[in-house]
Amino acid sequence: MIVLDLEWNRGYDKKPLNEILQIGAVRVERLGGPIVDVFDARIRPTVHKNFDLGAKKLPELKSFKKSRTRFPAAAEAFRAWCGGETQFAGWGRGDVEELNENCKYWGLAPFQAGEFFDLQRAFAHAVGSDQQIALWRAAEYCGLPDVFDYHSALNDAMYTAVLGAWLTPEDLAWRPEPAPPKRHRAALRLSRLPFPRQPRWKVGPVQTPMEALDARASRTPACPLCGRRLGVARWHFAVPKTGVPQQFYGAFSCPDHGRFLCRMTLTRREDGQWLGRGAVPPITPELAQEYASALDGGVHICRGTGRKRRRRAGRAQASEQR
Ligand SMILES: [Zn+2]
Repeated sequence: MIVLDLEWNRGYDKKPLNEILQIGAVRVERLGGPIVDVFDARIRPTVHKNFDLGAKKLPELKSFKKSRTRFPAAAEAFRAWCGGETQFAGWGRGDVEELNENCKYWGLAPFQAGEFFDLQRAFAHAVGSDQQIALWRAAEYCGLPDVFDYHSALNDAMYTAVLGAWLTPEDLAWRPEPAPPKRHRAALRLSRLPFPRQPRWKVGPVQTPMEALDARASRTPACPLCGRRLGVARWHFAVPKTGVPQQFYGAFSCPDHGRFLCRMTLTRREDGQWLGRGAVPPITPELAQEYASALDGGVHICRGTGRKRRRRAGRAQASEQR
């Protein structure tokens, strides 16, 4: 099986091509099995004059600009390296299409991927998420060492291949149900009762954002009216243009006083560890708006209702200060 990743640039002009700047791939004996060979082609950009924001941030952009390899040579080298392999995989499912769009642009024959496995979709199933998960987040979730830059095609292909070890045939076969029509936002029905200013609390330091979000201390805010301990089951967040989301919103319901919002703000310390700050802010129109945007963004479904996970949260020294 070949695990493939691409970097590309869309530019700002009218040429409708995501120009491929790097083809990275690894060959594995089987999904999750050892990496037995690697392929890395850095391609000189020639189609677009400008780089889009994503391309400008590619860690290896300089090496693409300096490369003497043009796309046709890289594509043919890649085709030869694949050697008739029919099973492909990637993080997301667009890479073979993009490769073929570029082949078409340059008048080359298309690639034939007999079978393509979208490991991003399979991973979402494996961890019970209904959202796409970024590669770095999945790697962090699985505790892979953060030693290679992301958004370099070979590194991303390598991380993707390693994550294959976490996936079962059932994960690979899973297909999401078609999205239901957007329903009226019942979730926005928040309590209108005024409440006194609530104490804030700290979580961490912990190793990963996930740990901070899953920590029991993060997910058990008190009803601001009766003080009853309640639970947040999922965190919603607006997806930022770049970087890691830092504000997370979770709703929780008191049987007597209605729904409130808990807000968790994550910050990364200089030593790389993460700190969470929890709050139950007053429900203003601004807060409801932020929550509504977060509902349209990503979601993190908390793990950690079992005893085992609770012990783990304890080890992570999630501290609660109220
Ligand atoms: Zn209450």
